[in-house]
Amino acid sequence: MYPVKEKLNEVRQSLPQGVQLVAISKFHPEEYITAAYEEGQRIFGESHEQELSRKVQSLPGDIEWHFIGHLQTNKVKYIAPYISMIEAVDSLKLLREIEKQAAKAGRVVRVLLELHIAEEATKYGLTLDACRQLLADGEWRQMEHVQICGLMMMASNVDDEAQIAQEFQTAARFFDEVKQQYFATDDAFCERSWGMSHDYHIAVQNGSTMVRIGTTIFGPRVY
Ligand SMILES: *Cc1c(COP(=O)(O)O)cnc(C)c1O
Repeated sequence: MYPVKEKLNEVRQSLPQGVQLVAISKFHPEEYITAAYEEGQRIFGESHEQELSRKVQSLPGDIEWHFIGHLQTNKVKYIAPYISMIEAVDSLKLLREIEKQAAKAGRVVRVLLELHIAEEATKYGLTLDACRQLLADGEWRQMEHVQICGLMMMASNVDDEAQIAQEFQTAARFFDEVKQQYFATDDAFCERSWGMSHDYHIAVQNGSTMVRIGTTIFGPRVY
């Protein structure tokens, strides 16, 4: 078995105080999650609804699950009853569906708006202008079962650390802009979810409050 406990503790020791660790367990077996759980890790991230639902059934109930992948609207109803945070909200349509299903479940679901800043054409997320538009439109203000807690993004998958740092800085500046404009008095809007295995050291130097780390903790994924 991969040395999950050791790796988890190494990652923890390398994180500044106040940065939350989301252990990304997608494609990894439940025994790996249990190993991390035994070390006190409680926040885990998954990106596929069926895999997540399967794991939720057999793992401890005090785990906080974050949905980190692209979420299809027809899958929201399955996770709304228990999900702790939906990190990758990339459309008003998805936000509306989360509001609807969270209301049915009698819950408030915490979400992050996903930004598209990376160069890759394939990545999901709202452009900065689309995000401005969504917030300016204001429909979200009427949503009583959704709490917008901040922003999430992925940097370009490149070796150029200066480029990665610049993308994180763009996201951090944008966070300040919308915080001031829409959430100045809302303490819940505080999260900047950026940084993965290969770039979290750069992310925490550029405003990240929440890193999403899989490979460094659990080893390579077997698809
Ligand atoms: C898989 C994934 C991660 C974790 O990536 P690693 O390189 O394994 O750390 C983080 N964020 C998102 C959105 C992911 O899909």
